[in-house]
Amino acid sequence: MKYLKRIYLPLLSIAGLTILFILSNELPFSGLFKKEKPNLSILGSLPLVIPTIKYGFAIDTFSMAENTVKNGDVIGNILNDNGVDAQIIHNIMNDNQHIFKPSNFRVGERYTLFKSLDGKELEYLVYEPNVYHYFIFNFIDSIGIKKIERPVTKKIKTTSGTIESSIWNAMAQQGSSPELIAKLEDALQWSIDFYHLQRGEKFKIVYESHNIEGKEIGAGLVLAAKYEMEKNTINAIYYSKPAFKGYYDLEGRPLNKGFLRSPLRFSRISSYFNTSRLHPILRRVRPHFGTDYAAPHGTPIMSVGNGVVLEARYSGGNGNYVKIKHDKLHTTQYLHMSRIGPGIRSGAQVQQGQTIGYVGSTGLATGPHVCFRFWKNGKQVNHLKLSFPPPEPLPKEEIPSFNKEKEGIIALLN
Ligand SMILES: [Zn+2]
Repeated sequence: MKYLKRIYLPLLSIAGLTILFILSNELPFSGLFKKEKPNLSILGSLPLVIPTIKYGFAIDTFSMAENTVKNGDVIGNILNDNGVDAQIIHNIMNDNQHIFKPSNFRVGERYTLFKSLDGKELEYLVYEPNVYHYFIFNFIDSIGIKKIERPVTKKIKTTSGTIESSIWNAMAQQGSSPELIAKLEDALQWSIDFYHLQRGEKFKIVYESHNIEGKEIGAGLVLAAKYEMEKNTINAIYYSKPAFKGYYDLEGRPLNKGFLRSPLRFSRISSYFNTSRLHPILRRVRPHFGTDYAAPHGTPIMSVGNGVVLEARYSGGNGNYVKIKHDKLHTTQYLHMSRIGPGIRSGAQVQQGQTIGYVGSTGLATGPHVCFRFWKNGKQVNHLKLSFPPPEPLPKEEIPSFNKEKEGIIALLN
């Protein structure tokens, strides 16, 4: 039986795949992971039995059991419990460390046991840690572990919607993943304050969708985005050349404004810049020279621009704080951190968006938040009211190439 299976499995698989290919008119490997049996009636009089294929195996020729890794499960014990000889377990794990480590076997992930039809002998174990690849442990043909990568195809897709309450709700309603929502935010972060969107505003996104077996499993680049407000429309076109990389408006001006609008990705403003605020702890009027962003303890705090760290330390009122000089004119400060980020010390270079610390309530603070302060020309200012001169567009000689790329994508955006 073993011998027959070994010989006929590939033949059966090929026959099965060919027919699935004809049925589905898709790529041949699309049959590999189909669980359902194809509808035999539409095959007419073909005298063939189509095997159901999983991980490349004709499952009818096995006694198969699907499982989920539970707390305390160890790959060695599972193999042992299923009758694999201890010496074989030792050898297979030892010889294949470069492919699979026991620590790769994680709680909650799927594995499938393929046993001989009489259920006595474990022939294969397939472990599937994610949709991108799986491991085949082979105990029958040639003892070993193989990693199989599933081919990912990229498709250009669009999604659009209208704001009812938030961009997250609007996009989730269209079936967008949190990953795609975060990428849209990255593209538009310099132009749009995602916490103050208005009902009725419209968005459209052109993005690369990553697919396995015709199913979207992730989002790649956001290639273009459009956000329509009552008074103006923001367009973002992704342009990537060795010397230029990022999002540009239709005229080829970078959307990157030099400073992010907020030092936190997800937050709400709990207190605005106010020169006559009643201090919540001191209970007297004391100007508030910053903007407070409330967020859960431990939320990463980003530097709003490139720069050099001036101070990264603790003081009584500020708690753990970081102060960054961005250029001759602009300096920012971030207070009340639970802790300062790794490598953030006086003199360190930081990039825009880099994590410099984590939200906390050290110093004079009532709850977890970051007090964000902005100096322009040595004077503390309300950064929400600052307007910066529009950045320089791409150089003239770059515009034809930019326009060419833009024309290709703009049709999808409109
Ligand atoms: Zn504050």
